[in-house]
Amino acid sequence: MPECLFCRIVSGGVPASRVLESPRTLSFRDISPQAPTHVLVIPRDHYPDLPALTAADPALLAEVLAQVREVAEAEGISGRGYRVVFNTGADAGQAVPHVHAHVLGGRALSWPPG
Ligand code: AMP
Ligand code: ZN
Repeated sequence: MPECLFCRIVSGGVPASRVLESPRTLSFRDISPQAPTHVLVIPRDHYPDLPALTAADPALLAEVLAQVREVAEAEGISGRGYRVVFNTGADAGQAVPHVHAHVLGGRALSWPPG
């Protein structure tokens, strides 16, 4: 999907501040950070959302989650705690239809979300 923003980040056509890479996943800083650490973790292959990825390739979802853990370690937030969010669909406000995990940390986060 060359018109997909995050596919274009994967291909290098759109610049991003990359944090970690693996053969099938990529992490980069959110362009509009909502916390001191705000990193997005994505599969390189295009899936529109979490249920699509889960249905098609659960092993790839596990690789995404493994990289979430590695990002938290690399960012120094694993001890204090952090939040992992997969916005899914309209009610959750998903804006980019390429599945991504938000990794948010570095400050106390309120609950419930808005
Ligand atoms: P969501 O609302 O869950 O779809 O989240 C999409 C996220 O992508 C938002 O937090 C945006 O700030 C972020 N975003 C949009 N464009 C870019 C970009 N070019 N580089 C990095 N993050 C982006
Ligand atoms: Zn995509």
